[in-house]
Amino acid sequence: MSTLVMKFGGTSVATLDRIRRAAKRVGREVANGHDVIVIVSAMSGKTNELVRWVEETSPLFDAREYDAVVSSGENITAGLMALTLQEMAVPARSWQGLQVPLLTTSGHGAARIEEIPTANIRAKFDEGMRVAVVAGFQGVSPEGRITTLGRGGSDTSAVAFAAAFGAERCDIYTDVDGVYTTDPRIEAKARKLDKIAYEEMLELASLGAKVLQTRSVELAMRYKVRLRVLSSFEEFSENAGTLVCGEEEIMEQNVVAGITYERAEAKMTLISVADRPGIAAAIFGPLSEAGVNVDMIVQNISEEGRTDMTFSCPVEQVARAERAMEAAKESGDINYHDILADTEVAKISVVGIGMRSHAGVAAKMFKVLSDEGVNIKVITTSEIKISVLIDRKYMELAVQALHDAFELEKVA
Ligand code: ASP
Ligand code: MG
Repeated sequence: MSTLVMKFGGTSVATLDRIRRAAKRVGREVANGHDVIVIVSAMSGKTNELVRWVEETSPLFDAREYDAVVSSGENITAGLMALTLQEMAVPARSWQGLQVPLLTTSGHGAARIEEIPTANIRAKFDEGMRVAVVAGFQGVSPEGRITTLGRGGSDTSAVAFAAAFGAERCDIYTDVDGVYTTDPRIEAKARKLDKIAYEEMLELASLGAKVLQTRSVELAMRYKVRLRVLSSFEEFSENAGTLVCGEEEIMEQNVVAGITYERAEAKMTLISVADRPGIAAAIFGPLSEAGVNVDMIVQNISEEGRTDMTFSCPVEQVARAERAMEAAKESGDINYHDILADTEVAKISVVGIGMRSHAGVAAKMFKVLSDEGVNIKVITTSEIKISVLIDRKYMELAVQALHDAFELEKVA
């Protein structure tokens, strides 16, 4: 019998009524002949509430107890979903992470999955269970303590189960009906993509299209799990949502698949640092230790042995970055004349595997921005992505102009 994994996010299980709606979809797949593994998130808002309770009780909390508390939201939805299915006469039962067991590292709060032994669940399928409802987001450490996989982690649970059980597909039910060419709140002509390649989805996920946890996409790509993102609020249809799959499954597609943005970026520049071997390590080592997520980096051409170093990071990390640089200066590891922070910038990226075989995407992007009078402050490129930093006030304009210029509203 073929196995299907169906994951329901927080908004899809937010009330008993929604759990019933979700259960009906599960029932339909069972009737189609699948054994189903359902992965559930906590009811929406629940995990945030649990995190607040932990922080209020103990500001410097023991991470093991944090996991014990915040993992509990999923236990509730798993039990309720199993009960709902039983009421519909579908043989189902709930599974907590440690009953599976879903084995993880001991990195509490952001543990990584090591292995999912399938024997326990398979034995129950053999006895007639048709649906295993698994609490997402949680596992068990080698020490036997409860762990969680980081916020948004039930996406990763779902993909890991699909890989372990060789599932035909992993359906991620959420509150959006798929992956779009860009944010429809910014560009009304944004179009839902029928298919997107793993590599593209990985870029979009890490660039801020918050549909899927980035790690879940990495895992799907590694194990070739076909992932479908779809809404649990729309009427069901066979081709609903967006399929995230290998590029060989995608026949025709635009050179650019999508445009993403990060609104709250900052551009920082260290003025006049010594241009010597080891300087980049001396700057970016301490930044990384301070937990600053550096993204783009530009080093100027040097004059008389000195150069400027520019990097981008999230706005809320500017103070932390400044402190790390001041500390490095005081300890004599680096020297600079000044440190500048421009906190009014945004990052825009165009993403598409078609860029590998089509030249001119970058040139076109720059021309479009120049025609709109938008100044580009920093540029970085990879094989399938071009990112620019621009003034934040032009962000919407830039997204719209690029969406038009690359004709993303049209199907290739
Ligand atoms: N409930 C967890 C969270 O809110 C995990 C998840 O929903 O994916 O982060
Ligand atoms: Mg989520």
